[in-house]
Amino acid sequence: MTREQLTVVVAAYNEADVLPILHARIAAVLDRLAADGVAPSLLYVDDGSRDGTWAAMGELAARDPRVARLRLSRNFGKEAALTAGLDLVEAGAAVILDADGQDPPELIPEFVARWREGFDDVYGTRLEREGETWLKRASAHAFYRLMQRLSKTPIPVDTGDFRLLSPRALAALRQVRERHRFMKGLFGWIGYERIAVPYQRDARLGGRSKFNFWRLWNFALEGVTSFSTAPLRLATYVGVGAALLAFGYGLWIVVKALIWGDPVAGWPTMMSVILFLGGAQLIALGVIGEYLGRLYEESKQRPLYLVDAWLPAPGVSSGAPTKAEGRGHDHGQATAGIEDS
Ligand code: UDP
Ligand code: MG
Repeated sequence: MTREQLTVVVAAYNEADVLPILHARIAAVLDRLAADGVAPSLLYVDDGSRDGTWAAMGELAARDPRVARLRLSRNFGKEAALTAGLDLVEAGAAVILDADGQDPPELIPEFVARWREGFDDVYGTRLEREGETWLKRASAHAFYRLMQRLSKTPIPVDTGDFRLLSPRALAALRQVRERHRFMKGLFGWIGYERIAVPYQRDARLGGRSKFNFWRLWNFALEGVTSFSTAPLRLATYVGVGAALLAFGYGLWIVVKALIWGDPVAGWPTMMSVILFLGGAQLIALGVIGEYLGRLYEESKQRPLYLVDAWLPAPGVSSGAPTKAEGRGHDHGQATAGIEDS
């Protein structure tokens, strides 16, 4: 019987405290999967952590031969770290899991069951979010609904990156090399058969969330600009509306001057019109700027991430991307970039 391969990809940034706790949970789940005809492996991606995360990964790998480790040259952000991890999964399916224990690994067998039923994208949908402020919950709620209205790409509500991707979904995702990676949107963009598995989202096991309000706001901007051009169109509509109003008001001024003469007055009106239009124009310019800036960054065609060290494990690909680095050193000094294909 051919065993189905499965790689659990975990991106971690300063998660030294929680990683060992999480690993014990994942390892227990992998044992169960192994008994169920799956060949599981684990891929930890260190997203340029500044604490002992890389060392913690080393300790885990020393004790568990299923663990592969990848270290990026600096902190590239969760989306790039996940991309780096998924790029290395050459065979079988992949499960994406947060390093902080908010996504329960115990759900993976259920994901696998759905995958065996033929689904390509099995994602966890949060029923509740423990340990998060009402502000974060409310803004997340609003954001997911807004995205659904703005974008033609189906983006399931209350769904994070916690999911299983089938081999062909992974292959599809690998073809999408845009720099501004709004992963939730990309998962939706590739299509295929998808199904939700509801779960309770726990609080972090420890440490702090890396996403403060400002980062979340930028993340939301990323989502909107990556998957919708509605804001650009909005500028057009505001412009058309203002022009129509101006036309009506102009007519009224002419008629008024013809009937009652034209005593010079109306400084307040003039000021408010000028200020309003000035403000509207600056906003529209800002919106264009958001898109233009992204266009600029895409056009530079830089690699999405750079690898500092890559230490493969049997289950995870050993060929790509930097053969020279699989020497068992913790800090492979060759800093090879991964070519975008
Ligand atoms: N993460 C990462 N790189 C970053 C920020 C976060 O790899 O630059 C990882 C982090 O270690 C965690 C996951 O992304 O495994 C989710 O981060 P976090 O828990 O801080 O986000 P939240 O759950 O609060 O949205
Ligand atoms: Mg978290």
